Amino acid sequence: MRAHHPTPELPRHLEQLYERFPFDRSFADDPISTIRPLATDPRRGEVAAILGATLAIGNTTAIRGAIARVAGLAGGDVAWFVDPAHARERARRLAGFRHRWIRGDQVDHLFRVLTDHYARHASLEEAFVAGWSTGGFPGGLDRLAAVLRGVGRSAAIGRPPPGYRALFPSPIDRSASPCKRLTLFVRWMVRSRYPDLGYWTHVPTGELKVPLDQHVYWIAYHLGLTARKSRSWAAVEEVSEALRRIDPIDPVKYDFVLCHTGISGDCPKERDLAVCGPCSVRPDCRLWRGRPVAA
Ligand code: SF4
Repeated sequence: MRAHHPTPELPRHLEQLYERFPFDRSFADDPISTIRPLATDPRRGEVAAILGATLAIGNTTAIRGAIARVAGLAGGDVAWFVDPAHARERARRLAGFRHRWIRGDQVDHLFRVLTDHYARHASLEEAFVAGWSTGGFPGGLDRLAAVLRGVGRSAAIGRPPPGYRALFPSPIDRSASPCKRLTLFVRWMVRSRYPDLGYWTHVPTGELKVPLDQHVYWIAYHLGLTARKSRSWAAVEEVSEALRRIDPIDPVKYDFVLCHTGISGDCPKERDLAVCGPCSVRPDCRLWRGRPVAA
């Protein structure tokens, strides 16, 4: 297939997609709809969001259900799980939890790491900013991943359970992971525009990278925002840079729309005139390149 570059009209078409998007319909399906009611203050917002991002594996219904189950085990207040006085009871309540391959002992260890972090720091934002100020967004994510893995933490938190550290990859690792879940967490914490939480105040929205899940990657590739054949950190950088050229102040505002265009079935990921006809970005989509809508 020939290289596919963004059309000059793409910024206008993407803006149309954004303006016409039924946010309220897709909000109900998004993990942020389960996180928001738990995020009643900055600490609770951060705890609920990192829990939600950690569990963001699989379909959105299962993810929302998993977040709600953990919140239910905390009595509806996720901050209860980062109170050092509740460590033993927390481990007992989470023992039987499972979401895909994530086990209760791993979620318990995450809360143990957070409890330890909050004993000395006001927020995870401090960790992200420390890495970001010297290494840009990948540096911030790397530092955040290290903190969540428990690197440099007190011996009191103990050894992590099997598989725990792999939950928090860094873009600087050799795997060059797209780090979708941590990048999504940072989006939720930094952006204050709907539907995000906006509790972090030191990172400009223009610095954000796109959380490149399979839906966002598919449409980004087909709009020419990246030529990469697979999801990787390099693809995250390319798509983010292309979106930054369209909106330098808030490039990641398109993430929710691109993601839910795929999740909702608004985009069939194939040439289907009945669905693609009214699609705002159809003139830019490589599946329709050079084809009139009546083809
Ligand atoms: S034209 Fe069709 S396949 Fe292409 S992005 Fe739009 S809905 Fe998806």
